[in-house]
Formats: sequence, C-alpha cells, structure tokens
Amino acid sequence: MLLEADHRAGGTLHVSSGHMSGAASQLQAQRGIADDAQAHYDDVMRISKGTATPDLLRLATRHAGSTIDWLMASGFEMGPECPVIAYSHEPYRVARTYWGTHKGLSILKVLQPLLDDAVKDGLVDLRLNTRLVDLQPGSQGQGWTATCGGAADQYEVNAKNVVLATGGYGGNPQLFSRLTGGYPLLSPAPACADGSGLELGLALGGQVRNSDVYLPTVAGVPDQAGGHYVNWDRRSNLTPQHRKPWEIYVTVQGERFVAEDDPSPDARERALKRQPQLAFWVVFDEAIFAQAPCLFTGTDKSEVLARFGTHLAYQRADTLDGLAAACGMDAPTLQRTVAQYNTAVAQGKDLLGRTHLPAPIAQGPFYAIRHQGVTLRCWAGLEVDASLRVVGRNGEPMKGLYAVGEILGGAAMSGDSFASGMSITPALTFGRLLGSDWLNWQNA
Ligand SMILES: Cc1cc2nc3c(=O)[nH]c(=O)nc-3n(C[C@H](O)[C@H](O)[C@H](O)COP(=O)(O)OP(=O)(O)OC[C@H]3O[C@@H](n4cnc5c(N)ncnc54)[C@H](O)[C@@H]3O)c2cc1C
Repeated sequence: MLLEADHRAGGTLHVSSGHMSGAASQLQAQRGIADDAQAHYDDVMRISKGTATPDLLRLATRHAGSTIDWLMASGFEMGPECPVIAYSHEPYRVARTYWGTHKGLSILKVLQPLLDDAVKDGLVDLRLNTRLVDLQPGSQGQGWTATCGGAADQYEVNAKNVVLATGGYGGNPQLFSRLTGGYPLLSPAPACADGSGLELGLALGGQVRNSDVYLPTVAGVPDQAGGHYVNWDRRSNLTPQHRKPWEIYVTVQGERFVAEDDPSPDARERALKRQPQLAFWVVFDEAIFAQAPCLFTGTDKSEVLARFGTHLAYQRADTLDGLAAACGMDAPTLQRTVAQYNTAVAQGKDLLGRTHLPAPIAQGPFYAIRHQGVTLRCWAGLEVDASLRVVGRNGEPMKGLYAVGEILGGAAMSGDSFASGMSITPALTFGRLLGSDWLNWQNA
C-alpha cells in the first residue's frame, strides 16, 4: 500500500533540478570516463571533509551507477551533455553528474508508468490524497498500525513493514527552525515537504541526526516579501560558472564579504553562513542593469524592473546614500565599499580576489536586491542503520520500520557540504534496494 498525501505522485520531483550522480555507469563507460564506486565515495568524503555518514554513503555510492543504468534502460531522457562535472555545487573530480532533459520531471516520467503498471497489476494499492496521520506498534508487538486518510475519513491499516519516504521539511518553517539551528528558512521545497513523517518517526522513539549541520545555497529572493518560498525555476543566477557577476554583494551593513566570482560554491556558501539572517544585498547601477545578462533565470529584465517599488527586497534610489537609507545599510560604509570596488575595476585588482571586474558602479539610479541563503534540501533527518531501519533512542533498530529519501537528511549523504546529485540518487537507490530485495531486507 502506498499512501500519498498529495493528489499526485512525485513529491519534490515536480520542482527538483533532478541532478543525479553515480559512478561506473554504462554512459560513463561509453564516454571513456574511468570511475568507480570507491572514487565516488572518496570524492564525497573529500568534499564533505569526512563528515558524511560512512555506511550510508558506502551503500549509496555502491549502487548509484546501477540506478543510473536502470533509469536509462527504463527510458530516461538523458541530457545529451551528460555525464558532466557540475559546478552548482563543489565539483567532483570526474564527470559523474547526470540530469534529464526536463529536470526532475524526467525522472518522474520513468517512474509514473512503472507505478501505474504496478497499480494496474494489483501489486500496489495506491491511495492518493491519503495522509499517514499516526503510526503505532501493532498489537502484541507485531508490525505496525497506521492511521491514515483525510480529516473526515480516517481508518487504520496493519502492516508488517513500513517505509517512511515522506521527504524533507523545507515546506515547514517552524520545524526547520527547530531542527536546523534557528536559521531562517527560504526554500523552493513544495508544501508537501512538511516533515510530518519525520515527526512520526521521532514520536515513535527515532532520533534526529545532523541537526548541528547547515550550509545555505547562495542564494534567493522570496517570491513574497517576508515569505519562505522561492521559485527555483526563476532564481537569481549567482553561480559564476553560469553567469559572471557584474554586481557586488554587500552585507546588511554595506560591506563586501566575498569574491563574488569565487569558483568554489563551498567558499561562497561558508561566507554567506557567517552573515546575520543569511542575508546580503546585490548592488548595481543603471548601466550594469542595462549591459549585464539578466540576474534571474527564466525572467526578463522588464519583470525584474517591475518588482522595484512593489517588493521590499527590491530597492532603488538616485544616490548611494539614498540606497543605503532604503536598505537600512550604513551610508558611509556603502560609499566606501563602492569606491573601493570602483578602484579595483580601474586597476584590475580586487582586494577580495575577484577577477571579473567588468564595470564600475558609478551612475545612479542605484539598485539593491536583498538575497537570503536558500535551503535546497534539508540537512537533519531520521537516523537509520546500514539496513535503512529506523534506529531508536536506545540505539537499537526498530523491527519493520524503514526510512529512505530526504527524511534521512541531506547531511547523511554529503555531511557538512553539498555533493552533486546526492539527494535524488540515494533516494532512488535506497528505494530500489528495499523494493528489489525485499525478502532479504525483511529478514535482516
Ligand atoms: C528546487 C529543488 C531542486 C533540487 N535539486 C536537486 C538536484 O538537482 N539533485 C538532488 O540530488 N537533489 C535535489 N533536490 C532535492 C531532491 O529533489 C529531494 O531531496 C528529493 O526529491 C526528495 O525525495 P523524497 O522521495 O525523499 O521526498 P519527496 O519527493 O518530497 O516525496 C515525499 C512524498 O511524501 C508525501 N508525504 C509527506 N508527508 C506525508 C504523510 N504524512 N502521509 C502521506 N504522504 C506524505 C509528499 O506528499 C510527497 O509526495 C532539489 C530540491 C529542490 C526543492
């Protein structure tokens, strides 16, 4: 029985970029890329400085390549450029990142017909619009009793085994703040990522792992001022490998804090993490706005212009002092920052080491857009053992209770860092492992 709170299957795949990573795939072999599971494991451990959870990372990397092969064999429409070294996160040493022609939806396009067939053949009892509301140990300690349904029509189901695959909590600011060190939430996660499955696991005696780990992605603007949602298809393009920065980034005081074109996402993310409220302003002038490629993907400049005056994160003024006042920055600090940057542009040498210095910020009107660190996937999660069984506070795995996917927390797979494709691929891989070798897992 598959319970799905939403009206459709797919969860976060509907919005995800869908980057996956796996070593020793057939596609890599065809392209002559030498790679193996050990190298993938070592690369993630290098990027995460040894902070990923070893047994889970071992399990994920060992089977990730075959997950990619299985998707391909099932009709996955692979981006023709893949596999690549991706630069939106700290890059791997070899090309082992893959994506579909339609981002996360390409993955769903493979999974949906398989699910539909399984439903048609009576192998899966799919219940859409049906929430898992409560989970309790079954009577006489046998299996589990799930309370499920909608507000008006709840019923109980007994199950020998339960797999919690309810995703993260990026749609739930209160839970996010509780589990992730009080940082403010800005996320493109859908509302269905409400952490309810994680809370059920905790209520049963499960434990949270990695609630002390967090790194923001650089960065986004809430769709609504003061909101916690950002549409990732129309995000600010702040990855220097994709769009070289023309603007400067300044703190809420008005000082630069990072070389905007530092090629290392990790370095930029750590610099942002030190900023209060994970906030900074992107500052530029009229000439830069006119000459530079649009700052936002999937958006044209007239749309961006229309946000000034209607959204508090977008501020414009004729003078730098006026801009500082509108943004709550210290005016002399902003004046000094811009003057220093303009000197760097004139001399071709920047104190913070930025190398792309295309134009000074010289002539009003001046613009500033308040950005905030983004949570792409949640960091903390439910602790499981190497057989994916939920571990209780006594350190013992709970019989017949498993968890896979983002409910495990992203830090389990890439520690205190981001490693490309290491949310979706392990989610698919662990789900496949539980499903394909079910009897062995059941008896483990
Ligand atoms: C914009 C964006 C881009 C991303 N890009 C990447 C990327 O490129 N690569 C990568 O690896 N990761 C990426 N991620 C993260 C990745 O997409 C997710 O971690 C992954 O899709 C989560 O899969 P999941 O199956 O664990 O959870 P989900 O896909 O969130 O599915 C959970 C499902 O459980 C249902 N559910 C929740 N609670 C209940 C309940 N109580 N009862 C019944 N049903 C319930 C939900 O409705 C949902 O359908 C991205 C995330 C976002 C938001």
